[in-house]
Amino acid sequence: MTHQEERIRIILEQLWKNRSLPAGEIGPVEYVYAGYKENDCPPAEGWQLAAPHQRYEGYDGHVWLRAHFHTPAARPHCRLVLTCDTGRSGNGCMNPQSLLYLNGEIAQGFDVNHTEAVLAPDTDYDLLNYFYLSLEPGSVECELTLSYVEERTEHLWYDLAVMLDTAVITEPDSADYRAILKHMTAAVNLLDLREPQSDTYYASVEKAIDYLYTEFYGKVCTPEGKPIVTCIGHTHIDVEWKWNRYQTMEKVQRSFSTALALMRRFPEYKFMLSQPNLYQYLKATAPQKYEELKQRIREGRWEPEGAMYLEADCNLVSGESFVRQLMHGKRFFREEFGKENYILFLPDVFGYSAALPQILRKSGIRHFVTSKISWNDTNTMPVDTFLWQGIDGTEIFTNFITTQKYAPVPARTTTYNGKLTPSEIKGTWHKYLQKDYANRQFTTFGFGDGGGGPTEKMLEVQRRLAYGLPGMPVTETGLLLPHLDKVREQFDRACLEKKETPRWVGELYLEFHRGTYTSIAKNKRNNRKSEFLLQKLETLSYTDLLFGGAYDEKGLWDHWEKVLHNQFHDIIPGSSIKSVYDLTDRDYAEINAYGDRVKAEKAASLAARIGSDGGVLVYNALGFPVRGTVTVDGETRETPEIPAFGWRVIPDTPAVCRVSVSGRTAENRLYRLTVDEAGRIVELFDKAAQRNVLLPGQTANELQAFEDLPRVYDNWEISEYYTQKQWTLDTPCTVEPIYDGARAGFTIRRTYLQSEICQKIWLYSEREGIDIETELDWHEHHQILKAAFPLDLNTDTATFEIQYGHVTRPIHRNTSWDKARFEVYGHKWLDLSEYGYGVGILNDSKYGCSIEGTTVKVTMLKCGTFPNPEADQGLHRFTYTLLPHTGDFRAAGVVQAAYRLNQPLSAVRIAPHGGDLADCFSLASVDADNVILEVVKKAEDGDDMIVRAYDAYRTRRTVHLSVAPGFTKAYLCDLMENNLAELPFDGQTATLTVKPFEIVTVRFTRS
Ligand SMILES: [Zn+2]
Repeated sequence: MTHQEERIRIILEQLWKNRSLPAGEIGPVEYVYAGYKENDCPPAEGWQLAAPHQRYEGYDGHVWLRAHFHTPAARPHCRLVLTCDTGRSGNGCMNPQSLLYLNGEIAQGFDVNHTEAVLAPDTDYDLLNYFYLSLEPGSVECELTLSYVEERTEHLWYDLAVMLDTAVITEPDSADYRAILKHMTAAVNLLDLREPQSDTYYASVEKAIDYLYTEFYGKVCTPEGKPIVTCIGHTHIDVEWKWNRYQTMEKVQRSFSTALALMRRFPEYKFMLSQPNLYQYLKATAPQKYEELKQRIREGRWEPEGAMYLEADCNLVSGESFVRQLMHGKRFFREEFGKENYILFLPDVFGYSAALPQILRKSGIRHFVTSKISWNDTNTMPVDTFLWQGIDGTEIFTNFITTQKYAPVPARTTTYNGKLTPSEIKGTWHKYLQKDYANRQFTTFGFGDGGGGPTEKMLEVQRRLAYGLPGMPVTETGLLLPHLDKVREQFDRACLEKKETPRWVGELYLEFHRGTYTSIAKNKRNNRKSEFLLQKLETLSYTDLLFGGAYDEKGLWDHWEKVLHNQFHDIIPGSSIKSVYDLTDRDYAEINAYGDRVKAEKAASLAARIGSDGGVLVYNALGFPVRGTVTVDGETRETPEIPAFGWRVIPDTPAVCRVSVSGRTAENRLYRLTVDEAGRIVELFDKAAQRNVLLPGQTANELQAFEDLPRVYDNWEISEYYTQKQWTLDTPCTVEPIYDGARAGFTIRRTYLQSEICQKIWLYSEREGIDIETELDWHEHHQILKAAFPLDLNTDTATFEIQYGHVTRPIHRNTSWDKARFEVYGHKWLDLSEYGYGVGILNDSKYGCSIEGTTVKVTMLKCGTFPNPEADQGLHRFTYTLLPHTGDFRAAGVVQAAYRLNQPLSAVRIAPHGGDLADCFSLASVDADNVILEVVKKAEDGDDMIVRAYDAYRTRRTVHLSVAPGFTKAYLCDLMENNLAELPFDGQTATLTVKPFEIVTVRFTRS
């Protein structure tokens, strides 16, 4: 700062002191400690008188405060405010926060950024303040005082502060700087600070303001020809993170009502908020505020946008979960507010699947917005406004948030929690790369996570920046959708003129938070199981509906919503505190109980009507015929082909085992597998291909532990140096033969430090693949556990399943982008292949993986301690499958095998009886391997059947989709089930062409 600038700063401090004038006490104040409130009523008993500077203490605790008082008379040029001072500052989400009730109504929230509430003069008030103590240790105050804010002094303070904050980021030699400095100096020279509160002082303040608006804001400043930064009020609220959902409900009450209170005072204030889940909380807990919010929506000042039910993780959740996130989110906004959503808004999600562009466009979304890729630890994205192209070629218009403090060389990281300072407004435009494609960018401003969103100060600063200060972009307040639509228009024009379209092809991999593919393994597993369970329930229920049964539409919707909630971007990634996972355990238990009940009901209802000579009724919930294994009374049997989405009654004959186990070698017609005394696979010979699967001299299913002390963000992160300290689990262990019906192999038991590891390696009589069932009783911290598979293959890429398709990633480290992908995720399978041969590795709940050369390392566990000290302790169960194959993964059926592992056949014995249903049935099937039928469900708007399928092979084919009798017409739909075109349909088979990775949704209407 120059001396001149310092002079202004000191005068600003004087003015700030003069801004507030005391207005008396509100005492006596009483308080009572309490738990989470059930409604808006404090406890009746236990009130105590608060001492001056009374301190309150308790993690996650609450205190109610109450007072009755009469406010003093009005004072000219002043507003009367109630101030809540907790003694804390900063913008941490962990700070104390409270909800203010005045005369029985919620008035607004208080937090360290919002400490004032405007009161009416000469009025009786009954005050209640529901005070949340904080998530930080130590005690806090809750001092409530009255004061007058002298608005002329305040006005001048903002006028000068915005100029000073602009001057310090302006090149000192420039004409812009000189103009700002000249007028600031002239204004402060008009001020007479000798007797604050005197008429002379106030006259000088008015004179200085007049001067600035005549000479500076009115003359020097201009919006003409300047780039525009649209300022969109926002508060990012993590649905669960370092607090659980019950605290989020309170954060919602506080932050939403704070925003609404400020909207009453600042008519230009516009606000955008995503996440229907949060709106549901407000609706349930503060209905009057919800009505006020609806009024702001009708006025076009509050924008409910963002499309998904909540801001979900986009690496780990399934393709169908994406569809449901959008369906639940869009429906909520439409039904509650009459608003159609067009933007996927995910500022804080840890990477974006290349399946998204197609899913978004087919759900009526035209814009995607994020900022998180700016958190990359290695590379900077080369685009900010661009077409993002997904695996099927669909493009979605994408915009990154570029808000950051101004620096001559922009930093990489940007923020969605903008502060609307001159520095951030300048930085937002300075950082923005597509200046030649649009003359506008936006900032989302406001404190998040209970910080109450935009502040009065931000709004005052915006009013001044809207004049267009020298050297600055001009600001306007606005909403996100109209802004993006304008940018799109300019972008399209510029692409034509410049003959160059900014584009990014493939996934938006976040080079950070790579541990989130693995942390809190139980939630990854529960999510995977729940996704498959609910899809199975929908298929079974629709089958039952077709035969006259009931379809529990509400139950399925509500249980999907539990799954969707737990896909929030701090829940499923594993970055939340323990109490969050205690609640998600409860959710998943409820989902399972519901699933068990519906499955049993539907199975009984169908079984009773199937005419057969008795045997075992095997049900296949997958959309292709399955020849696999099924468990009958605890015994594994191999089955003949069971039809797609259907059943077959098979003879009740015991299994035959054609696997021989001798010493440490197991053998079937397909493989010979030998383990060493440490339980590692030392030989895996593929008899059909006559080749060894493993690299010579190396061992597979070798368990490796690594020290995991990431440099930041413990449970989120794997730092690239983790490989430098490795312990191989290579000491002798127990290896015993094991037999179960049509399969046999070894049980391998080992102890590792305080933990027990039991693995069962299974070969099957006929079925391809080697299953490795793993049970870990884990009691270690700060270690990564991996299972390594050194494969004898020549390839430089690996293929990973993602949502509704797959991606291929290089497995070398040629470029900084390749190198940064040292840990990646896949869904149910990954595959390494050379021409004619390869190996698939399938899993039933593991996502993280690293590949070094052709050694695949499946990441089994990562057990950090922050923010959950008990992360990943205890029992873990999961299975992975090794599937050596000739041909590529398509020819070898790797995709289908991975589905079989995740959605196994189920069986019940049935006695001989007559019935109107056949003993072999398929609800829907398709005549092509590449097209996977994924979903059968009842249409949202009636009893029609919705079938969703996709091409899993990246190929193009005309296919025939056959359905059970009872349907009249077939329509191609979008993912939101809107009809697009009628398909040729002969009452049994619909014909359609499916393009590479295309997702198709077909509606079959009922007669
Ligand atoms: Zn977040």
